[in-house]
Amino acid sequence: MIPFNTITKYKPFLILVVLILAFILAGFTRLPDENNAFLNKINSYIKCINLCDKAVLVKMGADAVTAINTSKGIVVIDAGISYSLTKQYRKQFEKVFSKTYCALLINTHGHPDHTGGNLVFNDAEIVAHVNCIKEMQEQIKNPENVSKNLLKTIESYNNQLKMVDSSSVDWCDAYCQKARYFSAYNDLLEKKQLNFPGLTFTDSLFISMGDVSFDMIYFGKAHSESDILIYVPELKLLFSGDIFTKYGKHHICNADKQLSLRRGHVKKWLQKRKHKIEKIIGGHGEIMSKDDMDAFCKNLVMHEKNPFLYNNIM
Ligand SMILES: [Zn+2]
Repeated sequence: MIPFNTITKYKPFLILVVLILAFILAGFTRLPDENNAFLNKINSYIKCINLCDKAVLVKMGADAVTAINTSKGIVVIDAGISYSLTKQYRKQFEKVFSKTYCALLINTHGHPDHTGGNLVFNDAEIVAHVNCIKEMQEQIKNPENVSKNLLKTIESYNNQLKMVDSSSVDWCDAYCQKARYFSAYNDLLEKKQLNFPGLTFTDSLFISMGDVSFDMIYFGKAHSESDILIYVPELKLLFSGDIFTKYGKHHICNADKQLSLRRGHVKKWLQKRKHKIEKIIGGHGEIMSKDDMDAFCKNLVMHEKNPFLYNNIM
């Protein structure tokens, strides 16, 4: 028997423990139950945008997956944040192309919101920069932490949803974001395995898929350690991953000699191709113009001249 005065002494601590346990249990039981209704509703928020007759961009909130119809099968750029959502995106582009075989999946970098749905493309060869594997391995080292952070993010979107008008754009945005993190959390609960790239490169790689080809280059350490650019000459498209967004905003934060050389090399690579590029697709589905790319190249030059002024520009 625990003496009464001991209980009194530790009462605040015991209450805190009970509250934390209740919160965790509520989180673990409530979220999966809610899941089915949640995913059924999400289909109405998925948008398919035709980039040209051979390429379709499937978007849901900040998730963006592009599918390109080639004579050797579908090539997919990035895989979204989760298995369950990306399964829905895949259904959409399969319908558009009346085709199911995915030959290649290219990850623009190793972050979980670009590789979380890799498992959906078991039929495809996964291509990425060699550092992508290291980054993905790093993410699964501590699942408890990932779970805690995902729950925190879901809770913050739940709070936003309570505060804004349910017919507003802000509500839709918060709902889609919650859906993304929610399904990533569900993948974790269901112990979904990560699907790692099987074909990696260090500097550049060119792959011909018959009528469409993919010209890739490593950017060097920037937004992540595995960022690549993908140029698709036949479709006049450039995929920038998360290297830059509208108005050429970027996330380049250091300027050691080797990185400067690398960026100079990539800038020349871009300059050589830029007059043939018509559309640039960002890692979260932003459709950008050549002006955004020019602004990015200018920002790169400014950054080299004054790295401290242009640190963390995004
Ligand atoms: Zn990223």
